[in-house]
Amino acid sequence: MPSFEYKLSVLKSGHCVNKERINLDMNLQPGLRLLSNICRIRGFASQVQAPLTSERYKVTRGNFAALNDKDLGYFESLLGKTRVLTEESDLEGHNTDWLHMVRGASKLLLKPKTTEEVSAILKYCNERKLAVCPQGGNTGLVGGSVPVFDEIVVCTSLMNNIISLDEWSGVMVCQAGCVLEALNDYLMERNFIMPLDLGAKGSCQIGGNVSTNAGGLRLLRYGSLHATVLGVEAVIPNGTVMDCLSLMKKDNTGYDLKHLFIGSEGTLGFVTKVAIQCPVKPKSVKLAFLGMDNFQSVLETFKRAKQDLGEILSSCEYIDRASITSVTDNLNVKNPIGDFPFYMLIEASGSNETHDEEKLNTFLEKIMSNGTVTDGTVASDSSQMLAIWALRERIAEGLLYDGYVYKYDISVPLTTFDDFVQDVWKQVGDDVVRVCGYGHLGDSNIHLNITSKTYDPKVTSKLEPFVYEWTSKKKGWRSRPSNAQLEENV
Ligand SMILES: Cc1cc2nc3c(=O)[nH]c(=O)nc-3n(C[C@H](O)[C@H](O)[C@H](O)COP(=O)(O)OP(=O)(O)OC[C@H]3O[C@@H](n4cnc5c(N)ncnc54)[C@H](O)[C@@H]3O)c2cc1C
Repeated sequence: MPSFEYKLSVLKSGHCVNKERINLDMNLQPGLRLLSNICRIRGFASQVQAPLTSERYKVTRGNFAALNDKDLGYFESLLGKTRVLTEESDLEGHNTDWLHMVRGASKLLLKPKTTEEVSAILKYCNERKLAVCPQGGNTGLVGGSVPVFDEIVVCTSLMNNIISLDEWSGVMVCQAGCVLEALNDYLMERNFIMPLDLGAKGSCQIGGNVSTNAGGLRLLRYGSLHATVLGVEAVIPNGTVMDCLSLMKKDNTGYDLKHLFIGSEGTLGFVTKVAIQCPVKPKSVKLAFLGMDNFQSVLETFKRAKQDLGEILSSCEYIDRASITSVTDNLNVKNPIGDFPFYMLIEASGSNETHDEEKLNTFLEKIMSNGTVTDGTVASDSSQMLAIWALRERIAEGLLYDGYVYKYDISVPLTTFDDFVQDVWKQVGDDVVRVCGYGHLGDSNIHLNITSKTYDPKVTSKLEPFVYEWTSKKKGWRSRPSNAQLEENV
């Protein structure tokens, strides 16, 4: 069973969005660029009925009020009947998380369209002491987007207007419910792109991205959302609208409060609008898929890529053999190069095709002639690139076919990536099907995955606190605290 964190601080603080939640200690997989793959995973996961979160984790409901007919009447007068949903069939998808790992029991789904409506909802709920769960695309992999008990789900899917794009500065302002892929498509037509890209882009929404401080495949090039989000409008629990919607890159007037909402997962307020700096669309994109015999070569290739590709380096992903075979064996996806202990995906994108190609070729010649890289292939047309990206992005899906997946999203010094995987192998021994690592080299972020045929508490007890202690020793960080820490906190 994945470890979890009950956000006691949220419940105690009294200045939150009355939100109760569980965060499962799971990996944030930057997988699955193709929406069809997302559907496949959903289909796979939906064969299993998610257990009720409250039963699975034995947590007690906070001292919140229960919904009554008067409350429903208020919400209907505010939003109209069609945006106040109480049928079980309407709520099912909003009560269950993307991985079908946890399930809440909300009886009410609200679909506001404006900041004013969000403000009125939160003000009412705060006064009535009704718990609320903000929800975007519900693609979060840590169980935070679904209610734990009967919280009212307030979903942003109808808050999907693009408000403005300044084509001089590249600053776009939009409502929180805009889907990431729709924003990127809109921008591409106008010669810009979104500064973030992740496998869930077809469903996740910018408000959810901001609230989780989502990373993804472009972080190496454009930085985290703390760098690219220029402004946020958010509603705090008493209904007050916080206007931190700055449109300028430089804003040095005192405290920069918008940063508090980036990554706070709805605990401080409800994000309603976002202003984001959008980069210009690259004119040329190329993708190299490389195989190497040892981990030292991965490090050397990364170093050389930064030196030789410089400003055109846009993604640098690391994948070990056990990760690749989860896709080739379990999903029958073809690996275009031979069998290697390590693979890398290097994307270069820039503004001048000839110049970019020359740089990439020089880099590849160097690393192949000195034996750092043993084999590789380069794609420049979009269908070839998608086929190669699938090898990286479908790992999350491939692993599900092993049985049960124990996921850890960890940042450790990149020189220790492979030692980490090997030490975890030694620790869990023959109790598992696979131990594998893949991730973003540029961010020092490894996705450590362990699979077993079925859920086995013995494996969990071997993994935890081992994984966390290993991480701490390397001065790294992990996405969630361990069960042991949770117990201490309680
Ligand atoms: C295939 C796949 C690949 C992924 N790849 C990555 C990746 O590369 N990097 C990464 O970081 N994540 C990744 N994720 C995780 C997930 O997609 C991101 O966390 C995403 O940002 C969540 O957005 P969402 O709209 O789905 O939010 P939800 O899942 O609906 O919500 C996530 C959290 O934010 C809160 N929230 C949502 N909207 C608001 C709002 N308007 N105001 C306040 N709080 C709000 C929710 O209460 C919840 O706590 C991936 C997920 C999948 C399924």
